[in-house]
Parts: sequence; structure tokens; C-alpha cells
Amino acid sequence: MLLKLEHFPYLKFRNSFRGIDNYNFASPQPWSSPCPICDGKHGNYGLHGEWYKNGTEYCLTCNTSSKKLKFAIVS
Ligand SMILES: [Zn+2]
Repeated sequence: MLLKLEHFPYLKFRNSFRGIDNYNFASPQPWSSPCPICDGKHGNYGLHGEWYKNGTEYCLTCNTSSKKLKFAIVS
């Protein structure tokens, strides 16, 4: 299932592999501006998301942080 990206205007879908969706920032992320997920500065790298709870909840995370952003998706 593809995440509705209008919820996440800063993300651009890249590919999906084994249930994990990979993203880039929609606009090239300057290294000086913080990642919207972990608030760290790692540029356009390691953003991915995954569905939970039978597709009602979506978590976004990035490789540099174990912190997840959780979203409840209401259809
Ligand atoms: Zn990050």
C-alpha cells in the first residue's frame, strides 16, 4: 500500500522493498537544515516508512535515529 503523500509534502516516494517504503526529501535537503523526523542534520538519506496495524497506522523514521513519527491514517 502506498502512503498518501499529500500528508507529507516534504517526502518523495523512491521505492518499496519488503514492506519498507523508501523516501527522499521532495526538495534537496540542504545539509544545514534539520531532518523533519529526527531533527538531525544528515541530508537526503535514510528516510523510510512502514505500515502497522493492518494499514491504519504508518511510521516514518530515518537511519540516524530510532525515533519514529507515527501517523494514524484515516481512510
Ligand atoms: Zn533524520
